[in-house]
Amino acid sequence: MRLWGLRLRTGLLLAGALGLAACSSTPEPAAREATPSPTASRQFTPGAAGLGDEYFPRYGNGGYDVTRYVVKVRYDPATDRLTGTTTVQATATASLSAFNLDLAGLTVRGVTVDGVPARHARDGDELVVTPTAGLTSGNGFTAEIRYEGSPKPLTNEALGEGGFRHTSDGAVALGQPESASTWFPVNDHPADKATYDFEITVPEGLTAVSNGVPVGKTTRAGWTTWKWAERSPMASYLSMVAIGNFRVTRAEHKGRPVFSAVTTGLPEGAADASIARTVEVADYLEGVFGPYPFGSYGGVVVDDPGIRFALETQSRPVYSANFFRRGANSGVVAHELAHQWFGDSVSLARWSDIWLNEGFATYAEWLWLEHDGGRTVQQSFDGEYVGASASLWRTPPGRPGAANLFGDSVYQRGAMTVHALRTTVGDEAFFRIVRGWAADRRDGNGTTADFVAHAEQVSGRQLDGLFDAWLYGTEQPERPTAR
Ligand SMILES: [Zn+2]
Repeated sequence: MRLWGLRLRTGLLLAGALGLAACSSTPEPAAREATPSPTASRQFTPGAAGLGDEYFPRYGNGGYDVTRYVVKVRYDPATDRLTGTTTVQATATASLSAFNLDLAGLTVRGVTVDGVPARHARDGDELVVTPTAGLTSGNGFTAEIRYEGSPKPLTNEALGEGGFRHTSDGAVALGQPESASTWFPVNDHPADKATYDFEITVPEGLTAVSNGVPVGKTTRAGWTTWKWAERSPMASYLSMVAIGNFRVTRAEHKGRPVFSAVTTGLPEGAADASIARTVEVADYLEGVFGPYPFGSYGGVVVDDPGIRFALETQSRPVYSANFFRRGANSGVVAHELAHQWFGDSVSLARWSDIWLNEGFATYAEWLWLEHDGGRTVQQSFDGEYVGASASLWRTPPGRPGAANLFGDSVYQRGAMTVHALRTTVGDEAFFRIVRGWAADRRDGNGTTADFVAHAEQVSGRQLDGLFDAWLYGTEQPERPTAR
């Protein structure tokens, strides 16, 4: 994610961009999920209502692992009415008498598990499903949920709005750290990645863009169904849909489809020109980070007062039109495309490691700027190192607190951490570290501890002192030097 209005070199984060609270929170110790050991008992017990993330304990659910979602929704902007059927293919990781899905708002009309009607109940943003028979640990199951209603965005006290928004010509659903549960039932935590098929039905004439490869559209009786398939595992917050009037560009690059869309509410110009550089930027980043991880490319530009950020939605980032009002902006494209490696292909296992996403995406902006003829990476580092505010040094990016998830420290100090690593181990080892990380963990997850261990293994250096100072210290670390 990149907030519009985030300072690049000096000045303060515009805290109003997402209603960010300017406080830090002391994280509670992670609540562990109470998963019964399959060997200890044949008993069926309810799955946990959350995955126990240190910052967002109720996100996701325990007791199962989703492999695939098939999300079919029909949305009419004229009435703001959504009807949907979502199929969830999962494997039980505990023997379950019941399990939860995350679903915010909307009315559930029916649930089946393996084709048999199941009981269902709501508890806030939790949908509790009780199948007629228990689900045995290790076995696969399929849940189908029918639902409808008028979708609403989610408001996170610290981070502002995310999720499904009704726009002037349609709708757009995206957001971090959560958004998917506003339009389909989901295990809403990046620890549980899955493949997705989307079928979005909208009034004929409107475009419905989502993640992955476009796999066709059909029109019947005034409604058009747009089909999309994301075949690489995806974290739920990286899902998106944008419905409205768009200037669509289709192409092919390296055998993969390119599908981009810019809202027609914006005159043709800087946004179109910036998005058109997507494959050029992706090719540059491929040279740095290794093979592009997904089966399609693209970008979507929306113009809605509620969306004041760009987000790395998988294979097809969404950008606020604000980024292009003052002219072309390939830096934000580099940021969101870098996330395709750092965040999307290699995903967080817990939200407190957010610097692994934002530090690398910000660093990629520095790399792209140098490549594109702007200031050098070293100049970007020096500008930040000298110009950073006292609060940046007080806020450890490796443990920012939930309210500072998208704060300055995570981005700027996160990128400085990446550069400190590069300076310390040298270019040859550094690029082996980042390419190895992207390759080894492709389509998976990783933690900060995993990354530090990987960097030490590849470089043959002991780096805990470096990472401790840059990620967890509360004062300005020494300027890094080659060792
Ligand atoms: Zn970002």
